[in-house]
Amino acid sequence: MKLSNTLTKTKDELKPVYPGEVRIYSCGPTVYDYFHIGNARPFIVFDVLRRYLEYKGYKVKFVQNFTDIDDKMIDRANKEGITVFELADRFIAEYYNDADALGIMRATHHPRATEHITDMIAFIEKLVSKGFAYQAGHDVYFDTTVFLQYGKLSGQDIQEISIGARVDINENKKSAIDFVLWKGQKLGEPAWDSPWGMGRPGWHIECSVMATEYLGETVDIHSGGQDLIFPHHENEIAQSEGASGKPFANIWLHNGFVSIDDQKMSKSLGNFFTVRDILKEFDPEVIRLFMLSAHYRKPLNFARKMLEQSENALRRLYNLKRNLEHYISAENKKKIDTELNETNYDNYTLRFEQAMDDDLNTAEALAVLFDIVRDINSAITSGLTRDKAKEAYSCYMKIAGILGILSKMGHAITDDRIKSLVEQRQQARADKNWSMADRIRDELKSQGVVLEDTPQGVRWKFE
Ligand SMILES: [Zn+2]
Repeated sequence: MKLSNTLTKTKDELKPVYPGEVRIYSCGPTVYDYFHIGNARPFIVFDVLRRYLEYKGYKVKFVQNFTDIDDKMIDRANKEGITVFELADRFIAEYYNDADALGIMRATHHPRATEHITDMIAFIEKLVSKGFAYQAGHDVYFDTTVFLQYGKLSGQDIQEISIGARVDINENKKSAIDFVLWKGQKLGEPAWDSPWGMGRPGWHIECSVMATEYLGETVDIHSGGQDLIFPHHENEIAQSEGASGKPFANIWLHNGFVSIDDQKMSKSLGNFFTVRDILKEFDPEVIRLFMLSAHYRKPLNFARKMLEQSENALRRLYNLKRNLEHYISAENKKKIDTELNETNYDNYTLRFEQAMDDDLNTAEALAVLFDIVRDINSAITSGLTRDKAKEAYSCYMKIAGILGILSKMGHAITDDRIKSLVEQRQQARADKNWSMADRIRDELKSQGVVLEDTPQGVRWKFE
């Protein structure tokens, strides 16, 4: 599999450090609020990467942290009149609610920054002793002039950004782009004891430390949003490679931005959508399908119209699922078209794998799925053997499973509910209670479910 590597600026072959195992570190949310639609993109895209690698037979160790201490956490906790820890507990639970709804698999580890303060202190001490960090007052900074490769990920001119960088008057840095590893305590802030006095860790150090703790000094893939390339990931490299002398990540994978109606998403523009808001109106699989409809590196424009398109597309996918399920379970009296039954579904699998192996091209992978919809719908009409239908079904569901869709109804109404209503209607008809039967039919219709009375029984599908 080849992946676009921000570090080398080329598509690089994935060559795991430990054969048969892929170790991924992905920057997680700061848990001061519900996560928004922009955050959802890396969660969904890298979840598909993980599912695909597991499908290819790799054991995947996936670590995604929770940033549970930083300025935003402290501000929000103060506003709510609760502790930072209470705030973190609440929004970690909310993260799991939304992520589970979106079908995002739980990481192998979801460490919280505050669980690793001791490890961070040890890591910072190592950087100080190796000359990569210095103490200034009660703060500790990373010395970017000592790490000679500083800037290699973002490809920025360090001289230029040093001139442009703003220095807070409270900071005692040697260079404007030096960054904080440990912050001395300010009044009213949570703090931990350290060799430099009471204080708390900077943001960047937590990812270097937790990646090393759970995955070792070199990870196969480090992923995150494009906005994290500088300074966050640049700083992670400086810290980790300064401490270990080894490459920190072999592949740096970054997803593109999500814009809202072609504008940058921001609270001030009022175009800020949390996943929680969107889930009130749309099925989670609609959001997944929408996120996977573009290549992960490309910008993605989020608009209501786009979600509605994804909703229609998802309905088509579910219709084929249902049609195939019905076709396989029902008596098949159609004349068999031999030519159709020579279709080899391995070709679809092959095309799917080629798309995914080429830099996780989910847009192309979805195109394969829609080709199956087109081909099978016409094959069903022309005559398909049950064995071939089964073969098509298993290929179709395998691909859908890796993309994390078609796992349920993909609709407000559940499978079980439809089945129960269909049975109630059958009973009403048997009882000759026609008005009741019609009422149930109308109710299902309002949910987008259409019934067809066939000689094999009642068949149903979404409009
Ligand atoms: Zn990070």
